[in-house]
Formats: sequence, C-alpha cells, structure tokens
Amino acid sequence: MAPDTRYPHPSPLPEGEGVCTAWARAELDSLVSRGLKRVLEPLDSPQGPLVRVGDETLVNFSSNDYLGLAASPSVRAAAAAALEGYGVGSGASRLVVGDSTVHQRLEARIASFERSEAALLFNSGYAANVGTLQALVGPEDAVFSDSLNHASLIDGCRLSRARVVVYPHSDVEALERALASTPARRRLVVTDTVFSMDGDHAPLREIVRVCRAHGAALLVDEAHATGVLGARGAGLCEELGLCDAVDVRMGTLSKSLGGLGAYICASRPVVELVLNRARPLVYSTALPAALCAAAEAAVDIVEHDEALRARLWRNIRRFSAGLRSLGFVAEPRSAIFPVIVGEPERAVAAARALRARGLLVKAIRPPTVPEGTSRLRFCLSAAHTEGHVDLALEGLRSLNL
Ligand SMILES: *Cc1c(COP(=O)(O)O)cnc(C)c1O
Repeated sequence: MAPDTRYPHPSPLPEGEGVCTAWARAELDSLVSRGLKRVLEPLDSPQGPLVRVGDETLVNFSSNDYLGLAASPSVRAAAAAALEGYGVGSGASRLVVGDSTVHQRLEARIASFERSEAALLFNSGYAANVGTLQALVGPEDAVFSDSLNHASLIDGCRLSRARVVVYPHSDVEALERALASTPARRRLVVTDTVFSMDGDHAPLREIVRVCRAHGAALLVDEAHATGVLGARGAGLCEELGLCDAVDVRMGTLSKSLGGLGAYICASRPVVELVLNRARPLVYSTALPAALCAAAEAAVDIVEHDEALRARLWRNIRRFSAGLRSLGFVAEPRSAIFPVIVGEPERAVAAARALRARGLLVKAIRPPTVPEGTSRLRFCLSAAHTEGHVDLALEGLRSLNL
C-alpha cells in the first residue's frame, strides 16, 4: 500500500509543548485570525435586567430569562425549600434511585400546563433533543430538519443515525417534496417553533398539514416560545391551537422558566419509549429536586401571571417599533431581535461600542449563525423598563449601521 503523503512523519515538537497543546494552539490561532475566538465573561450578580460584570453595571439584552424568573423570590423560595428537604444531589439516574416525588409532581404539572397526556423531564434542552431523536428514529428512518434548527436538534439527528434531509428554512414546499421523494421505515419532521437566532416562527399549520398528508410524525422545539407565546404561555402550538396535532413538543426550563432542565410532552407510549431509550436520561444523573421545585413554581407563574407576559409583549412591541423607525426589519414575533451586521469583527466592534454605553449585547458569530450573518442578538425581558428598551434603541441609533 502506498504511504499516505498527506501526513508526513511528525516533526519533533517545540521544546516543552505537549502534542494536544500544539493542536489547540494552532486551532486557536486560526479562530483569532478569523475573528471567531470566544471568551467567557463572568457575571457577579443574578440574571436580571441589570447585571454586574467586573466593576460595571450593564443593562442585559442577552439573557433568555424572558420573564425575569431566574431570580424571582417565589421561585427561589421553592428551590430553597426543596434544597432543605431533599439535599443537593439526586444520587443516580431516574431509572436507578434518582427519581423523586418532586420530579413526578413536576411532570404532572407540566403535562397539565401543556395540555398533554404525559411529560418527561430531561437535564437540559440539549439532552432532550438529542435523547428524544435518538430514541424515536434509527438507521432505517429519515429525519427532515429545517436548515436553521438549533444545534441540539442537528446533533440529535446525527446521533440517531437516521438519514437526515435538511430542507431550506421554513420552506414547506421543499419539505413536502422531500417527504414525497424519501421513503423510509419511519419519517420524522423536526423544527424549532421560534428560531433561536432570528426570532421568526415556523409555518407550523402548513408543516402539520404536510406531515399528515405524508404520514410523518412531527417534533417541535418550543425553547423560545414557552412562556412567550400562547394565551397561557404554552408556546406557539397553544397559540395556533395545534397542541394535539404535534406528536412531540419539547420545551425548556432554562429560558422563560428561569431554571435548568427541559421536557417533552407527548402521548404516554411515546414518553415511556423515550424514558427507556434516551441515553441522556438512562446514563445521566437526574436533575436535583430543588431545580424541579423551582420549575414547578415558575410554571405556576407563567400560566397564571398574564400581566407578566403582557409586560414582555409591551417591551417587544416598543423595541420593534423603535427598530423599524431606525430602518430595520423587525416584526414583533418573539422576544428575539437580530440586528445583522455581517462579518464577525464588525459584530464584535458593535457589541463593544454598545458596551461603552452600558449595554450588554453579545455578538453572535459562525458557526452559531451562517457565514456573513454575524449579528447583535437582542433578547427582551418582562423585567426591562421602557427606559432600558429606549437605551438599547439609542445605542443602536448611535452605531449608524
Ligand atoms: C437553548 C435551546 C436549546 C437547549 O436548551 P438548554 O436547556 O439550554 O440545553 C434547545 N433548543 C433551542 C431552540 C434552544 O434555543
């Protein structure tokens, strides 16, 4: 066999440098040269409209805590009580001895909130998507996935080892053509309902229609819709009256619900199958009871505090109107507003300029968004005041984008 000339015999490493360190240094240099290196920036305060970063107090426009529940007194009190009653760690996966009555109660509460036959908890939205996809479909099956779906859905598609057909963003005709031309044992369509980097909605009614017409199942990710859309905050499915028409609805406890974890809502057989098969559930320690109790308190607030959601929507409409008066396309569809600036370095510079005006808005760059669409991603919260919203608009005006 001819030797592989792509990989010449390794040259000796520089003095004192490990092999892996040399790999990392080369990759990091490449990220820096393309303006794509990311760094951590620790807060020294709870989530909220105002956060402490170093010795600055900044108005926070990058949090997914849309209803300001991450630091809410009643949510904290529920967590603290469960912390006292059940301790910190859950000790094992739920299928071993990590399950508790607190977990069971939260699942029942979520099922009632989502008007679903059953619900199943996961430790994160990422784990929910990866675990559910891998539990429902396999190598003989096909998954149809929107091109702008969240990375956790993309990774779930890959790990399922099903055939993956990516359809252009929200293009129902392309989806229908793909369904018509891709036979498989099982076919599953997956989509975000509110897209995480653009804030737009999936054309869910039409997607439900083509799934029915082609005998495909539908899984939707409501991460950015839970707490934001629907009369009781149960998401886009609730808003469109489609809760019963969608096979699996996934929501997170980590965004509007202010905590950590996630869930799927589905029929009892689907929940039982996923509980038996989803590797992130079977092989990972259960959520702490304190987080379950916090989520239970947060669901009560989301479902019953209509004034809170109304405050979020007042801010969304105010920001949308202000953006449009600055010449941006900015429909009020969700709490997410992208301001696309193009190249990563420009987005980072824009974020830095806003930072100098007391605004914390992170630049979002590839691979999180497509090349050439680096952006400032503004997230609004019910906890922002009109003054905070106006400060963001003033900041954007000053950028002259
Ligand atoms: C945030 C997010 C997730 C992941 O949820 P985590 O609880 O943060 O792991 C999944 N899907 C979408 C669309 C998201 O925005």
